Amino acid sequence: MQAFGVKEPSSGTDTTRIRISTEKHDDHYIVNGSKVWISRTEHSDLMLLLVRTTPREKCAKRTDGMSVLLVELREALADGLTIKPIRIMMNHSSTELFFDDVPVPAENLIVEEGEGFRYILDGMNAERILIAAKYVSDARYFIERAAAYAAERGLW
Ligand SMILES: Cc1cc2nc3c(=O)[nH]c(=O)nc-3n(C[C@H](O)[C@H](O)[C@H](O)COP(=O)(O)OP(=O)(O)OC[C@H]3O[C@@H](n4cnc5c(N)ncnc54)[C@H](O)[C@@H]3O)c2cc1C
Repeated sequence: MQAFGVKEPSSGTDTTRIRISTEKHDDHYIVNGSKVWISRTEHSDLMLLLVRTTPREKCAKRTDGMSVLLVELREALADGLTIKPIRIMMNHSSTELFFDDVPVPAENLIVEEGEGFRYILDGMNAERILIAAKYVSDARYFIERAAAYAAERGLW
């Protein structure tokens, strides 16, 4: 299982407004901030986490300055990460995440610092198209089932 941490309370459709911050040390980053609506973190070993390595106001373009870190969730839980489940009627196992000085090894940086927005979009665009196809076919299936049941159902 894997988790994908992008969405924050202050950012949704506009991903460039993420605020989760990092401080770079010799061989690790220190992560502070929060994420919300992140699926499956209670059941995953690894999470791809989008962070700001440069504040938005210091970047030439607002899509610059974001990076992706691979977080070992069990290690992070023992070192400043809190996972809070959000109970909803949907099987995504949604959670809220709080990072309080969580160390992540510098070698867990995905490829290049500052290029994270492009890496995330590369996967996310394909994922969203797949999900849209799934829900369109789900909708067709449930409408057929409901219509067949309504036509066959015997009353009294
Ligand atoms: C069940 C569930 C699971 C999720 N799992 C994950 C996950 O695993 N990882 C993760 O990172 N995120 C996850 N998310 C978060 C999801 O990616 C966000 O909900 C999504 O990015 C939209 O952000 P938002 O909810 O803040 O909506 P908003 O950004 O507030 O958008 C609300 C509505 O306004 C519209 N809108 C926004 N801006 C504009 C604009 N400028 N012009 C016109 N219309 C606009 C949007 O299209 C939308 O219809 C999950 C969400 C849910 C509900």
